[in-house]
Amino acid sequence: MKIFAANWKLHKNPKETREFFQEFKALCSLRPQTKVLFFPQAICLEAALTAVSGTGISCGAQNIYFESKGAFTGENSAQNAKEMGAEWALIGHSERRSLFGEVDHGLAKKVAHAQSLGLSPMLCIGETLDQREKGETNSVLKLQLVQGLSLAEKSKPLAIAYEPVWAIGTGKVASIEQVRETHQAVRQMLTELGFSTSTPILYGGSVKKDNAKDLIQIPNVDGFLVGGASLEPKSFWDICSVDV
Ligand code: PEP
Repeated sequence: MKIFAANWKLHKNPKETREFFQEFKALCSLRPQTKVLFFPQAICLEAALTAVSGTGISCGAQNIYFESKGAFTGENSAQNAKEMGAEWALIGHSERRSLFGEVDHGLAKKVAHAQSLGLSPMLCIGETLDQREKGETNSVLKLQLVQGLSLAEKSKPLAIAYEPVWAIGTGKVASIEQVRETHQAVRQMLTELGFSTSTPILYGGSVKKDNAKDLIQIPNVDGFLVGGASLEPKSFWDICSVDV
């Protein structure tokens, strides 16, 4: 099963969300061996869930808090997202880490909280360019996995998105060899930590129609997390419909 996930970041309002899905649903015919899902901003989640109802397309929250209710002004309740029909929660995107100060031990609580509610967490990990150039990629990823998954239940659904920070929104895509090596290393780390060999590992970082067809053939690449190219129905569908 290959997963094609759209991260819309802080783009689109509810009206634009509805318009996107009108067009996207006309293009898309889901295949049994693929899953398509969207992470709209929380304010557009209801519009997205209504639009995809009955289609087989899934939605998730871009960020959740690790408590479901209480005095946590500005946070998103995972329980509410679940009750609305969300199936996924994106956790620890590099923008959450770098711009909003999220750190691994808090992310671990979010992963566990999502799982406890029946939401599938998608934990994002990735190294900076500086870390890659210093040869620290695997140690950085290992630490992010060990800490971020420290409270995760191994028997419950979970996905990893490997997104080299230097490739997100930059137009710089990691080379086939870098993706091959790193996904293999992440698979090995997950196995050593006791997670199922079927845990999906998605690649993210400037995925476009033209590079998607080669990237998806790499072993241990179980799908994509797509930012910029997911904002237009046709460009995202071109990615979702690559030969798998
Ligand atoms: C992302 O936001 O997770 C991402 C990978 O963005 P982009 O596809 O634009 O690089």
